[in-house]
Amino acid sequence: MANENKLQNLIGHCKEYGFIFQSSEIYDGLSAVYDYGQYGSELKKNIRDYWWKSMTQMHDNIVGIDAAIFMHPTVWKASGHVDNFSDPMIDNRDSKKRYRVDHLLEGLADTWNQQADVAEAAGTADLASSLRDKAAELIATTEKLMADNDFEGLKTLIESNNITCSVSGTGNWTDVRQFNLMFSTEIGSVAEEADTIYLRPETAQGIFVNFLNVQKTGRMKIPFGIAQTGKAFRNEIVARGFIFRMREFEQMEMQFFVQPGSQKEWYEHWKEARMKWHLSLGISPSRYRFHDHVKLAHYADAACDIEYDFPMGFKEVEGIHSRTDFDLKSHQQYSGKKLTYFDTDINQHYIPYVVETSIGLDRMVMLILSEAYHEEDLSTADKQDSRVVLSLPPMLAPIKLAVLPLTKKDGLPELAKNLIAECRPHFKCFYEEKDSIGKRYRRQDAIGTPYCVTIDHQTKEDGTVTIRYRDSMTQERIALADVCKIVDEHTKMF
Ligand code: ATP
Repeated sequence: MANENKLQNLIGHCKEYGFIFQSSEIYDGLSAVYDYGQYGSELKKNIRDYWWKSMTQMHDNIVGIDAAIFMHPTVWKASGHVDNFSDPMIDNRDSKKRYRVDHLLEGLADTWNQQADVAEAAGTADLASSLRDKAAELIATTEKLMADNDFEGLKTLIESNNITCSVSGTGNWTDVRQFNLMFSTEIGSVAEEADTIYLRPETAQGIFVNFLNVQKTGRMKIPFGIAQTGKAFRNEIVARGFIFRMREFEQMEMQFFVQPGSQKEWYEHWKEARMKWHLSLGISPSRYRFHDHVKLAHYADAACDIEYDFPMGFKEVEGIHSRTDFDLKSHQQYSGKKLTYFDTDINQHYIPYVVETSIGLDRMVMLILSEAYHEEDLSTADKQDSRVVLSLPPMLAPIKLAVLPLTKKDGLPELAKNLIAECRPHFKCFYEEKDSIGKRYRRQDAIGTPYCVTIDHQTKEDGTVTIRYRDSMTQERIALADVCKIVDEHTKMF
């Protein structure tokens, strides 16, 4: 399946089966804002839980917090977001369409790389390699101009490559301008007295401003971490790629506070630990890669992305950043409050250094769905057949067990409901008695339910049921009394 088709089919599937809907759909939607439906919200919650437990439950020295979305406006001055959190953008004068400059240039590089693939397939290796070199050079030049904030250079690069607007088809561009990504609103009941505040563009700052609160009340000793999940908001100029780039999204961030000088070691530690976490979901290492940042953000002394091979190609799902003491030092300066730690091991006061792991929950949902979505051709010599299956890691599946009585009579629904009553306190179950068993299985495949159990007449005789496995579609008979234990064991997180 072509990747573009895969993305479109996945979006359609998510809507059809109650995973993800466009926000305010009956009003024609709100761009780059999405709602999670009955199965999507379960999947998202399970991913969040897995991350949260991996961080807090599985580490003695990491604790979680839940800070407010609204924060004092000076927080965003201190963090650098008021001055630096912006993307260069350009408008087409004819269509009035706005573009992110780096996306326009990356788009051209992508086109050249696709042409290189075609040339290679046609046996013209020289052409393929020169196209790839051209694309790599364009990306490198773009990155350099972006890092230098060279807006004139970026505009010249767009014009010299004859990049045109996809709507008007013209190259009638405005100058490149910076566009701050933070949403602002007002706090206070009386308009004249209201203060402008921002919806947080990242959850990290809620951790930094609570660093001493948590360290003191939790009697935490360095090295230690503070984890948080929650909503973040960015007015992305061009939102694209379904839930990959949203204006309202959720982050899962952990700031790890370390002794100055030990940050490189911890950075390497967390790089490895986070990749292990991804692979623990049963995903092949070939679907992931690291992308080390060459040009670093103003606060970092090392940074990399964990990239996954999404239907649109390799893209960032998580960032690991060695943030130095930039944030705490800056908050100390702006607030006038001391944010130092006394290290009894070395008898010294210092501002800790920080290594951050920052992952987008929605991007992780998209990753898991892209990985799990399969269209399978099950045709045999005499029958055409196919199915869509979500091969989700069982611990993340919205429903763990579907219980299906073969018929609506003969006491089979009662047996099924008894089984649900037994299992329900342990994991999420689903009961269905309509339609043929085959159709019911297919509906469970489509939402990723790893186990289906069918209650039939034999159950009444010998206390056994048929259990059917989602991925292999094989079935076997097991004791009704064992179902709860088996499903629980194979779907729990730890
Ligand atoms: P990008 O380069 O894709 O804009 P970023 O480098 O700005 O991302 P960070 O600020 O490092 O992202 O945020 C950490 C994580 O938050 C990202 O790895 C991503 O998973 C998630 N994230 C960031 N922006 C968005 C968004 N607009 N929609 C969904 N997830 C996002």
